[in-house]
Amino acid sequence: MTNSQHSGSVSSDVSPWLGAQIQKVIDGIYRKYKDVDDGAVATYIPELGKADPKKFGICLATVEGEVFTAGDWDTEFTIQSMCKPFAFQLAMQRHGTEETLRHVGVEPSGEAFNSIEFDQKTGRPFNPMVNAGAIAVSSLIKQKPVQAGIEEFVDKMSDAAGRRLRIDHAVLASETATGNRNRAIAYMLLNSGIIDDEVHETLHQYFAQCSMLVNCKDLAMMAATMANIGNQPLTGKPVFDFQYLKYVMAVMFSCGLYDYAGNWAFEVGLPAKSGVSGGIFGVVNRQFGIAVYSPKLDAQGNSVRGILASKELANHLGLHAFDFSNVGSTFVQALL
Ligand code: GLN
Repeated sequence: MTNSQHSGSVSSDVSPWLGAQIQKVIDGIYRKYKDVDDGAVATYIPELGKADPKKFGICLATVEGEVFTAGDWDTEFTIQSMCKPFAFQLAMQRHGTEETLRHVGVEPSGEAFNSIEFDQKTGRPFNPMVNAGAIAVSSLIKQKPVQAGIEEFVDKMSDAAGRRLRIDHAVLASETATGNRNRAIAYMLLNSGIIDDEVHETLHQYFAQCSMLVNCKDLAMMAATMANIGNQPLTGKPVFDFQYLKYVMAVMFSCGLYDYAGNWAFEVGLPAKSGVSGGIFGVVNRQFGIAVYSPKLDAQGNSVRGILASKELANHLGLHAFDFSNVGSTFVQALL
């Protein structure tokens, strides 16, 4: 049972014929990988270990707000590292690019997400997509009181998703209780003057961001908001300042999947971000947002079925940034 649905009630940018093809592709990918059982659910944050390993959802959302889904698209999970591109966007919106880049670089690290390595010359974390860089970014977007910064983040993300999102307090408590490696990273950053001495507040901001609940459709809509130059496809609300989105997507493209980022760029070819909860989302600029959820992870901390499904989706629909045969491209549309 694919449990698929196409909520095509909204305006149709995609022709009915093309919509049916997209749905067919998504259903086929869901069926093909449904029984893949490789990988392991993350348990280093104990609360994440409770995820149902069988869950598997796929969603594609167009910049017109059309949504195509398969499987467990509405299962909620915490956003984890997939909050990082959005936090980076908010930091640049608040402080500008130059000031933000004083605290975090934009160079792929080739290292694991939780690596404790910094740029030797500047002491900055390599990029905002690994924990160190995201903690530096959290220090830039935190507010006084700290709850205000968290609320602003959740509000923005809710605007992008098009529905009210919330924090999972059990996951937040679990991360806070066990996040000593992140705490160590934060103190290293304090030591080198990258973050201020409100370390506790910075970490609370970071852990709370990671603990926000989303489903596949939310992620696809958030990605579609990026693709739609910052305007939410359904509500039309301007959510992200478009002048920074190109920087966010560039960093997602080169660093979004940690030490798998190069392979991802080669094989899938989309700006994307993964998280240890098992989600991956990608942006097809000016066209679609895509998201996959499956909690079992590979050695790099990326969702096994998330990568398989994304690769196949990109191949079937020609989504690779350097692929001319993209289904949503004006080139292909002109042939229809
Ligand atoms: N909150 C997680 C952590 O800090 C995020 C990591 C991830 O999703 N890769 O470890």
